[in-house]
Amino acid sequence: MSDLESNKEFTLDPDNWDDVRNLGHQMLDDMFDFLQSVRDRPVWVPITDEMKQNLEEPLPTSPQDRVQIYKEFKDKVLPYGTGQIHPRFWGWVNGTGSVFGMLAEMLAAGMNTNTGGREHMPKYFEHQVLSWAKEMMEFPADASATLTSGCSMANLIALTVARNLKAGVDIRKEGLQNLPKNLIYYTSTAMHSSIQKALEIIGIGSNQLRVLDVDANYNLKLDLLESAIESDLANNQLPICVIANVGTVNTGAVDNLIGIREIADRYNLWMHIDGAFGAIANLSPKYKHLVANMNLADSLAFDFHKWMYMPYTVACVIIKKHDDHLNSFSLRPAYLAEATRGLASGGRWPTEYGIQLSRTFYALKVWFMLKENGMEKYGQLITQNIEQARYMQKLISSNNKLEQLAPVYLNVVCFRYTDPNLPDSQLNELNEELLIQLQENGLAAPSNTTINGKFALRMAITNHRSRYEDFDFTVNKIIELGDKLIHEKR
Ligand SMILES: *Cc1c(COP(=O)(O)O)cnc(C)c1O
Repeated sequence: MSDLESNKEFTLDPDNWDDVRNLGHQMLDDMFDFLQSVRDRPVWVPITDEMKQNLEEPLPTSPQDRVQIYKEFKDKVLPYGTGQIHPRFWGWVNGTGSVFGMLAEMLAAGMNTNTGGREHMPKYFEHQVLSWAKEMMEFPADASATLTSGCSMANLIALTVARNLKAGVDIRKEGLQNLPKNLIYYTSTAMHSSIQKALEIIGIGSNQLRVLDVDANYNLKLDLLESAIESDLANNQLPICVIANVGTVNTGAVDNLIGIREIADRYNLWMHIDGAFGAIANLSPKYKHLVANMNLADSLAFDFHKWMYMPYTVACVIIKKHDDHLNSFSLRPAYLAEATRGLASGGRWPTEYGIQLSRTFYALKVWFMLKENGMEKYGQLITQNIEQARYMQKLISSNNKLEQLAPVYLNVVCFRYTDPNLPDSQLNELNEELLIQLQENGLAAPSNTTINGKFALRMAITNHRSRYEDFDFTVNKIIELGDKLIHEKR
């Protein structure tokens, strides 16, 4: 008998709303407890093979009990995240999220608005948030902007606009098939990998990205930029874009933006800034001078989910000239056509400013957290993180077992445990083991990088939960572990 004949109809809504309501309240309470007690747990817990195997099971065929499903999540997943919500997590560049941000995510998921297009209030929330973003970064109010999944996507969008505008042919029609000259982009060795990936994806190819050396402060060398452009022109190539870094991923350095703008103007280049986390320093009244003049750029990409502590994922790209942005991405076939009234009205749709069509209600968590904290609180938090980096610098310089490996400019600190009797090769091994033990013991989570051939412990401080005592604790543990490893070697 078919289901139609049996008069049965199906839905995903619960048969018993009270059960789900109770379970939902339990989940919420558990998550509040989880966040409130984060400091008492290890930063990170290693994942055993047994735990991975424990997850393996056949594709579910029949419905399972919700209480049991949630219990499995609580037992098998919840305690074993990356740990970046912990006060002593400073690895890579990760965000801590926030309690109110989590609630916004729940509300956005409940509404389940597809913000790619159509007429609805979430779209206007996004407009409001983008106006605030432009104001925060001191870009003109008539600039264009959009929210993206992350700064990788934000960089990709900006570098595409640069390509389409500067190539000299209609790239959207012609593609890169018949270009008389290769299109050349410029940046420094301090760039983030997302820049190279973007150029690989949009058909430029990494060979056409000139990756130029940096000076002692990890800033792009302007004389090298100029001579590289001259040499490309002499070789019949077409220089089109320079990518400046505000907050390099390795050391937090900030390029000379005035100098780069001046060269970009002279050679008619687009100037893009990858400001993934560094751009947020503009929110600190005390330290905003460290990232001054970002609004000289034609485009700026930055993350909300790193140094603005918002839940993953959300980022932003600002394009100074609105039409440059729109002309690269707007495409409205019949099924997306605009109406003057009804659900398909509402003027420009978010999908006309990026790649995604369907997209989540990114703006709600941004709107919630900007209102919850205001620029005042954000200013205090950003200032605090920068001053924590300077505090780390002091702890390092006052201890002869620690060595600073790169200048501290914003919120990134690179250093290592050191011993005058050990050559670099052995110090590299020792620091690598030290870092792994620090992480495996759940004590603290810096990450690592290599500075001039030296293995560096690297802290990128984008954490609103860190206290000064966390840095004291971590430095003490690093000395303890380093001493122990040296002792074991002897
Ligand atoms: C993290 C980062 C990116 C990429 O941003 P996602 O949000 O991870 O996609 C790009 N540039 C820099 C400097 C970064 O730190």
